[in-house]
Amino acid sequence: MALKLIHGPPNSGRAGLVRRRFTAALNRDPVLVVPTVDDVYSFERELCEGGAALGGAVMTFSGLFRAVATAGGAPPAGELTPAQRLRVVSLAIAERRDQLGPLRRSATRPGFAPAFERLLDELQGAGLEPAAVEAAAGTLEGSAYLGDLATLFDGYAKLRDRLGRTDSHRIARGAVELLCEPGDFWRRPVFLYGLDDLTRNQFELVRALAEASEVTMALTYEEGNAALAARASLLERLRRVGVAEETGTEPDPENTPAPLLFHLERGFGASEPERRPPGESLVLLRSAGARGEAEAIGAEVARLIADGADPAEIAIALRDPARRGPLIASVLESYGIATALEAELPVGSTSVGAALLALLAATLAEGSAADLLRFLRGPSGIPSGRVDWFERALRRRRIRGAAAALELWEEHHGGPPHDVARVREAAGGGAAALAAAIASLAATMASRPLRSEEDGPRPDRGDGLELRAAAAISAALADLADPVELAPPPEELAAEIEGLRLRVWSGPVEGRIRVADPYRLRAARFDHVFVASLQDGEFPRRDRGGDPFLSEPQRASLGLEPRRDVDAEERYLFHACLALPRRRLFLSWRDSDENGVAEARSPLLDEVRRLLEPLPGGEPPDPVEAALTRVRDLTRVAHPVAAAPSEGELARAIAARGPGADVAELLGVAGVERPVADRVAGRLATGRAAEAATRAPGPLANPAALDALAAVRAYGGTTLEGFDLCSYRWFVSHELAPQPLDPVPDPLVQGGLMHAVLERLYAERPGGDPLPRPASLGAWLGRGRELLGAVAVERKLGGHPAERAIVRRVEGLLERFLAEESGRAGSGFEPWMLEARFGEENDSERPALQIDGWRLHGAIDRVDRDPLGRALVHDYKTSGSVTPGAKLEEEAKLQLQLYLIAVAERWGAEPVAGLYHPLAGTSTRRPRGLALEEAADELAPYGLSRTDLLDREAFEAMLDDARRRAGEIVGRMRRGEIHRDPGPRRGLRGHGVCPPFCDFAPICRRDRAPAEPREAEGEEQ
Ligand code: SF4
Repeated sequence: MALKLIHGPPNSGRAGLVRRRFTAALNRDPVLVVPTVDDVYSFERELCEGGAALGGAVMTFSGLFRAVATAGGAPPAGELTPAQRLRVVSLAIAERRDQLGPLRRSATRPGFAPAFERLLDELQGAGLEPAAVEAAAGTLEGSAYLGDLATLFDGYAKLRDRLGRTDSHRIARGAVELLCEPGDFWRRPVFLYGLDDLTRNQFELVRALAEASEVTMALTYEEGNAALAARASLLERLRRVGVAEETGTEPDPENTPAPLLFHLERGFGASEPERRPPGESLVLLRSAGARGEAEAIGAEVARLIADGADPAEIAIALRDPARRGPLIASVLESYGIATALEAELPVGSTSVGAALLALLAATLAEGSAADLLRFLRGPSGIPSGRVDWFERALRRRRIRGAAAALELWEEHHGGPPHDVARVREAAGGGAAALAAAIASLAATMASRPLRSEEDGPRPDRGDGLELRAAAAISAALADLADPVELAPPPEELAAEIEGLRLRVWSGPVEGRIRVADPYRLRAARFDHVFVASLQDGEFPRRDRGGDPFLSEPQRASLGLEPRRDVDAEERYLFHACLALPRRRLFLSWRDSDENGVAEARSPLLDEVRRLLEPLPGGEPPDPVEAALTRVRDLTRVAHPVAAAPSEGELARAIAARGPGADVAELLGVAGVERPVADRVAGRLATGRAAEAATRAPGPLANPAALDALAAVRAYGGTTLEGFDLCSYRWFVSHELAPQPLDPVPDPLVQGGLMHAVLERLYAERPGGDPLPRPASLGAWLGRGRELLGAVAVERKLGGHPAERAIVRRVEGLLERFLAEESGRAGSGFEPWMLEARFGEENDSERPALQIDGWRLHGAIDRVDRDPLGRALVHDYKTSGSVTPGAKLEEEAKLQLQLYLIAVAERWGAEPVAGLYHPLAGTSTRRPRGLALEEAADELAPYGLSRTDLLDREAFEAMLDDARRRAGEIVGRMRRGEIHRDPGPRRGLRGHGVCPPFCDFAPICRRDRAPAEPREAEGEEQ
């Protein structure tokens, strides 16, 4: 009977007008249609503000279609749920894949089904059926491509019908068709508000309803307003239907208490806008990094709430809330501020979803050991300590596949993890049983963190998301289990779950800060609005959006609307954001990422700046912008004390002032009163004590620890060297003995193999020579290879490519070393002792060596002796370079000198040299160390460096010096003097410098911790 239009710019009173007309029509059971479910709640609340309102209904467009169909006597039934629809699309693609031409390969890709489902939405929303797409295919170049789309569309429609189901688009078409048939079942007036765009089905419903009854539609449009140009075409289409009445609403400054905000909304997009001075109602936030931006917004929101703002009157608009919203919401939640993040996330981004996907990959597919670990570290109910040990075993055995990892788990624990057993058992019962089991498992996983002996703890922040994720997974899998044809087989189940998305928040938002995109916020108004992440390319977007399938000519041939003008649409959305706030608008952007890399801000900010006077002129910085801007740069690791938004942040802000900060005074500055002040002071005291306790363990004061160190019966050379290199490093690695997660490092494995093979080889003397000689070299090499193979088998090496590579490398080093040895004939020295042990152990040849109140033990790789009874000590190193005699102290080397002393004092031989052999050396592989000059002729085959040859006095002085240094180290050890003191004593090169191979810096915190106490330095001197 009538279509009435109300149009005007934002804040011109359209909502109030619609509300008044709706209320006036209550006796005719009117319907108000709004964009989102949240808007439904919000309008219902407003309608009831003056008391109960009887009659009328507020709903979304899909509700209207259903209401019309029901009124027309065809209530919809059997509608596919979103999960079922996507599954039907996937099955149709699989069924028709062989009939496809150009799309055949793409159709196998994981993202194809969701993308095609979006296209289907558009095609069906435009009222198209498969036959229409097929017909369009015949009229175009590239028709094979469109023909493929028609084939898939037809496959979907046939499968849907075969299952006896319908979908929301069929319901919509049915409603329109019912209205077009004779009969007058619909007489309710319909009002539409906040809808600035209509699909063809929606448009046709509006037209049909207008003929049957009365339709009033409120549009955001103003003649000549460039910011609203994107909505001109809808108005034109509606006018062509035939409009009974048009009401234009005028912008009303009274609707916005802040004149500056009214000015910004009115002026945006104008070619020659007026300007006005800035004011408090506009704030610019410039931050560094996404977290910095989230914290800057969080601090402002906390301040607004502290000043009395209602959280429901604060909104954060994001162009892409799924990408930017989770961090902002989590920062706000950490400040104790409840949020409603209106975004859809993949269920795989939650702990429950990720753990389920990992479990399925590890159990039912050819997953990896990492998948199994991901599941175990999620809400699997298995203690993390047990998972740590299991991960260590996996790494040390270099296990990569999930099947082998599960075998290892069963070996350790006598059976598979409980959830794995559940999945295996359910998989044997068929697809529907598996889907049902996974649905139940999702709920179990989400509830695990909440369980305890009694009622369990109250759900924490974040638990709500996990519970919703579990509910979404359970509901979707229940949908897929019935009808049974839709139940995915085990190998496809993970892909189905991966495709599921979850609304982070839905429902009433009372008491929460809404975080949403401009489309969802545009029908509402708030006192305070943040428009965040205003980055070039993000808002405004650069991508064209829309479906990836159809070109413009193809869209035209199908009768689809041309794609939206991206620039006009982005400006329309930003303008909608400018119209949202009543009191204050915050525009936020990042000028860099967390690493300081520059990021470009949105050009929309410059357009806002052009609405302010005076215009920028001259060099930056612009004084107007500077006055409006609150900055949070990379140096800001905590909030200012007086602006901390929560107790935790206040404690952090005070802690950031350093250990000397006066806590009581700062709490006074922040205006914090008891009991909050007491709690914050308590947290700081606990934190400081913990930090002090972990800063460094020494000097040790615990009597039990000191007694344990004093009770050490004998010390080894490498222990003393380790302490000399850095006492903190020694304490952690030697005394605390953390268990490494990774396999034994390759150099250690190599060294162990090499030493074992050389010991056995020299003991066997292949070919009869005590040392390899040119004539016996072949026999030495052959036997060496055999022994290497045998030792590798004994040590279970060779099952992994990395282990086989180690064995091959050792073989090469061995061959080269033996070849060199065979060229050293004529020294007169022959092997005398191999792995010569002295100490307390049973297999020691000699007792430990007593040195100045402490005892030395050890195992010398090899000692050679000449006919005069003089001894030559060998120490094999698998490194490429070794320490020359002059640098022994600088490089914290003691063992070689101590072994020379032991050979003299425990075996009664006269030591003439101690040599390190660099087995992995390349060009210069001569042994280094210290040797008596007087034995230089006999040692000539070793090609020693002149600097390593010492006269007797210097030689003995080096041994005495080593004895003295070792004694001092033992004394420091016994006194528990543990400090971060890398490198040799002061005055030598490398003092205070951490060796590059030490990876303890994260735990010793040398860079960040306060300087060592002075007495430690004094002693070093
Ligand atoms: S990083 Fe430096 S100070 Fe820390 S343990 Fe290693 S060597 Fe010592």
